[in-house]
Amino acid sequence: MPETISSSGLAQLWQSALPRLAERVGHAACDSFLRNAQVLEFDGETLVLGVTNEFARDWLREKHLPAISSCLSEMVEKPVNVDMQVVAHQADQPISPPVPVPPVTPTIAGFGSVPLNPKYTFENFVVADCNRFAHAAAQQVSKSPGKSYNPLFIYSKVGLGKTHLLQAIGHAVVRRTPNLQVVYISAESFVNQLIGAMRDNRTAEFRRRYRNVDVWLVDDVQFIAAIKGPASEEEFFHTFNTLYETNKQVVIASDAPPRHLQLMNDRLRSRLEMGIVADLRCPDIETRIAILDKKAEAEGLDLPREILTYIAEKIESNIRVLEGALLKVCAQISLTNQQPTLSTVEELIADYSTATAPRSVSVRDIAEYVAEQMECSIEDMLGPKRNQEIVWPRQVAIYLCRELTSNSLASIGEFFGGRDHSTILHGYNKVSELLEADEEVLWLINELKSGLQA
Ligand code: ADP
Ligand code: MG
Repeated sequence: MPETISSSGLAQLWQSALPRLAERVGHAACDSFLRNAQVLEFDGETLVLGVTNEFARDWLREKHLPAISSCLSEMVEKPVNVDMQVVAHQADQPISPPVPVPPVTPTIAGFGSVPLNPKYTFENFVVADCNRFAHAAAQQVSKSPGKSYNPLFIYSKVGLGKTHLLQAIGHAVVRRTPNLQVVYISAESFVNQLIGAMRDNRTAEFRRRYRNVDVWLVDDVQFIAAIKGPASEEEFFHTFNTLYETNKQVVIASDAPPRHLQLMNDRLRSRLEMGIVADLRCPDIETRIAILDKKAEAEGLDLPREILTYIAEKIESNIRVLEGALLKVCAQISLTNQQPTLSTVEELIADYSTATAPRSVSVRDIAEYVAEQMECSIEDMLGPKRNQEIVWPRQVAIYLCRELTSNSLASIGEFFGGRDHSTILHGYNKVSELLEADEEVLWLINELKSGLQA
């Protein structure tokens, strides 16, 4: 590791770390806190990360410091300490490697709308058979929001461009009609904000804000279905209806088509199905090469064809992973100042796997993982003890078994030390209730889930 790395080298290092960090800390935390962070300095030992607010700093320090530090250590192949500082986010200074993007200053409405990623534009989106329909629908929507395709529902597996398309709509609308209120938000943040608003008696304000937008872009809506909380689903439904009925545009992204979302509200499901439903599929090899080509160009890199082809052959089913591999190669070039050979690239991305389908987990995997993460022994978890330190992790594990496996209550009960189905149901309900009321619990479940599905 050279003594000093240029700031663009640091930015590239950080960019190439993001996909891995997302795997470790969860995509929600990564998108909310890490994507906007910047590396302020790195002396080879301690890396100082600039984050945009105190909440992000404290949250990351408390929850994710070891993960961030181990991820960076792996990348630079030596131990890295991480420290955080709050810095004002300067929108006019790109933190990531510069990408030619037309100047856009989105006027995004308040109450927690997330700023759009400047890279996620239509110009940067490679159109191919796997995404042509969704892309066309997204373009139509951005040309006449609220008029043609409402709602637009986009679904795909992870890493295939849903967030990119949603935000591209946001950029295009803001560019064309800057006075329109565009809100981009993940369903998870929506729920978290709702919970916060309920806690602080600000529900009325929350509603007013959301019901006042012109284009509502809601990402990862499966989260609403997954937490099975009547309050958040109702609130979502009402917001959706109000906007829909006043001809405001709603665009939704999800990991499954509407009919597969486990929503309690049938009217919501059928309303989601009423508009355009478009899927994104895995790109074929030519498209993957085209995407890499475009990204490499954006990074100012001229990589030999055989290297791009090698990466594209190796990583088939997730564009985010594909991009992560390319960024890793970029970081390597910027650190060593040398063009890589095919064999260096082979080595660099040896640990990138193409398997992206969520691993199916067993009841045992879940119990063991939760016991480890929540620091209780597996014997206690499955045994008879009933003190709170053990009951709580047990209930969390039971909740996740219900969520992530198709096992019956009885068979989960049998695994958890021969408990009957009503005990299992009680544990499940307990966690479901807390999810509605307690932000910490929501994050806990979210992180355990993403850890189990990584
Ligand atoms: P999802 O939301 O479906 O998980 P994202 O929108 O986050 O996926 O996409 C993952 C990464 O792949 C992003 O960096 C995005 O820019 C890139 N990407 C996805 N589809 C395309 C495409 N057609 N052209 C260029 N880049 C793409
Ligand atoms: Mg996404």
